[in-house]
Amino acid sequence: MPVMGDPTATEPTIFERSRPGRRASSMPTLDVPPVDPAAVLPGVELADDAPALPELGELDLVRHFTRLSHRNHGIDVGFYPLGSCSMKYNPRVAETAAALPGFRNLHPWAPEDAAQGTLALLYDLQRWLAELTGMSAATFQPAAGAHGELTGLMLFRAYHEDRGDPRRTIIIPDSAHGTNPASAAMCGYDVVTVPSGPDGLVDVEALEDLVDEQTAGLMLTNPNTVGLFELDIERIATVMHKVGALLYYDGANFNAICGRVRPGDMGFDVVHLNVHKTFATPHGGGGPGAGPVLVSERLAPYLPAPVVTRQDNGPGGPRYTWDTDRPKSIGRLHGFHGNVGILVRAYAFLLFHGGDGLQRMSGKAVLNANYVAAQVTDVLPLGYAQHQAMHEFVSTGKGLKPHGVRVTDLCKRLIDLGFHPPTNYFPLIVEEALMVEPTETESRETLDAFAGALRRAVQEAVDTPDVLRQAPTTTPVGRLDEGKAGRELIVRWRPEEG
Ligand SMILES: *Cc1c(COP(=O)(O)O)cnc(C)c1O
Repeated sequence: MPVMGDPTATEPTIFERSRPGRRASSMPTLDVPPVDPAAVLPGVELADDAPALPELGELDLVRHFTRLSHRNHGIDVGFYPLGSCSMKYNPRVAETAAALPGFRNLHPWAPEDAAQGTLALLYDLQRWLAELTGMSAATFQPAAGAHGELTGLMLFRAYHEDRGDPRRTIIIPDSAHGTNPASAAMCGYDVVTVPSGPDGLVDVEALEDLVDEQTAGLMLTNPNTVGLFELDIERIATVMHKVGALLYYDGANFNAICGRVRPGDMGFDVVHLNVHKTFATPHGGGGPGAGPVLVSERLAPYLPAPVVTRQDNGPGGPRYTWDTDRPKSIGRLHGFHGNVGILVRAYAFLLFHGGDGLQRMSGKAVLNANYVAAQVTDVLPLGYAQHQAMHEFVSTGKGLKPHGVRVTDLCKRLIDLGFHPPTNYFPLIVEEALMVEPTETESRETLDAFAGALRRAVQEAVDTPDVLRQAPTTTPVGRLDEGKAGRELIVRWRPEEG
């Protein structure tokens, strides 16, 4: 029997806990004649046997899942410096806002008259995000960043095709997040990779050689995935616009620049925001999220329909409606209106921060990253040290290799030392990459403790490398074979087969 508080105790699977006949609920005795399912469901393929579901009493069921839930690491449990993911604290007030009955209980098919409050919220959020990004119009349908990328690229395609000039290629830096080339490929584009220069920024000369009249656009993250602001961004925009190509801004790193510079002012035509990263939604467990897409004037006609609009000339004040009459729209990317609960959280977050608060947010995110970097880069040097890091920094652990230790070992050791590991082995252009993003919500004591743990682990790599190679030892399971699940995919499990 697993004991609460013993993190190394194993928890049996729910099938192993199953005992025939146990139930978490009981039904009253049937007081009507039973019917034959085949008779009431003609033409439906029925299973011969009941599914082999686990059988447990309610208390055992509750304890099983509660024990498992205590094994999750989350931002409410500890520091979570996962680079590129902005694992910041999600203020409870945003949860409270999303749980207000008027939002929570609204049916997605509610008529406009019964949904004016939510429509007003969506309309205002659209305007605020457009203001923050320097764009003109928005859609809230995409359910996350990657979905926003696909949406944005479909807008690129619609724009070029509408002008009778369909194009074939999308240019993407070699440092990009994997979703960028995946989205471009899904949208039917050929991907052309532009290399980074020795300083970690886009090599603009190489870019100039790659663009031609087949270039539909460029996808860029700024600050980029090595945590550096693209200093040549205006020149990059000019190079792209000269051949009639569009610019896509991957806004996953918006936390670094929010309230300071705007993608629209840098010349971008499409921006997606990961509001679950930058604003206030717990994430990391697979969703739900929201990836609003903001566009410049020239792409607005192609946005997914419907779009929320405001009419000011009615007798009872402004009225909000869904505009479905959009002949050039690329169509729907999501049922109903996207993940509205996530948008309510973002709205609350923006409202209680205000413009000055958002500016302080990005300032502190950058300060915190640089504060940690200053404490560790003598032992874990930056991948690219020529420019100032922004809200995250990428170190290389290649110096550990002579001790027979890799960054993966360092990360496993951090778990024993009480910290969630940073992102590692991404971006691909930094050898033995370790990508740290503390976010703005951490205290100085937490940052100091984390930097101390990193330094300790590096010292151990020299003194006692086996400690790192065997880590973690304080968790329910130790080293896993990380490739096995991919190589031996089992998508259906029958308990009797074990
Ligand atoms: C997180 C991330 C994405 C993908 O966003 P999701 O919301 O996880 O789909 C894309 N690009 C970058 C740079 C990211 O960090």
